[in-house]
Amino acid sequence: MIVSRFAPSPNGPLHLGHALSAIVAHDAAEAEGGLALLRIEDVDAARARPDMAAEFRADLTWLGLQFGEVPAQSLRLDDYARAADRLKADGLLYPCRCSRTEQARDRPAAEERSAGGTAPARCRICKTGLSDAAEEPGTRPVAWRLDIIEAMRRTGPLRWTDMRAGPQNARPDLLGDIVLVPKHAAAAYHLAATLDDAADGVTLVTRGQDLFAATHVHRLLQALLGLPVPQWLHHPLVRDESGEKLAKSRLSASLASRRHAGEDGLELARALREGRLPSGLHLF
Ligand code: GLU
Repeated sequence: MIVSRFAPSPNGPLHLGHALSAIVAHDAAEAEGGLALLRIEDVDAARARPDMAAEFRADLTWLGLQFGEVPAQSLRLDDYARAADRLKADGLLYPCRCSRTEQARDRPAAEERSAGGTAPARCRICKTGLSDAAEEPGTRPVAWRLDIIEAMRRTGPLRWTDMRAGPQNARPDLLGDIVLVPKHAAAAYHLAATLDDAADGVTLVTRGQDLFAATHVHRLLQALLGLPVPQWLHHPLVRDESGEKLAKSRLSASLASRRHAGEDGLELARALREGRLPSGLHLF
């Protein structure tokens, strides 16, 4: 049986791109008599807005989409901590003292090391690394990065399948030594979503094309943590004329504002299914 999911982060209102994601998840399950799940991805407590989940449910009902709901990420923090501890015990996570801003600026560290060979994993900005792990007292907040090169060495080559793009060779190194445990949260998106998809019995992960590269990392985490491997379906994004993703576009009227303005949600869902987008917007 197909189990799909729609997993929005409650950091702000849903827009048309989210509506498309929800429709793709819903319809893929419905076509096979499966189950579509709603999961609120509120692992980043600092950014999550408590009023958003109720709005999301109202948006989905307005679009005519039924989802079964599984527990939000904020209720699963112990599971994330357990998995992170396991990866630490396996010597695959190393501490990083960078600030969020510095981390956002960081280029992938992995490629440089893979060219050079055996240098131990170390953050290229703050220079903290695996050899410092034992000294981290546990009370001082540090982030934890995944040693991608060592992780890939342990799993060997991996493959995964996207239902549109076909079979893929996993290239988690493209994202570098990603942070799996941020300084002030139990888990980063990659770790939380991968664990949740397994716990929720998800067999088909549907999401936007912008997360295609993330899937390489998720496939690696599944192999490291002994989790089942689903299929994926990355769908095109709704963009404006300049090619900008909707989230950043001036045309990104929220679903809630459309709903409150009395727009017909069922008609909007029909239009999105048929690829008819409001003027100025495109799917690619
Ligand atoms: N929570 C993510 C977002 O809102 C979606 C992640 C996913 O579908 O894997 O962008």
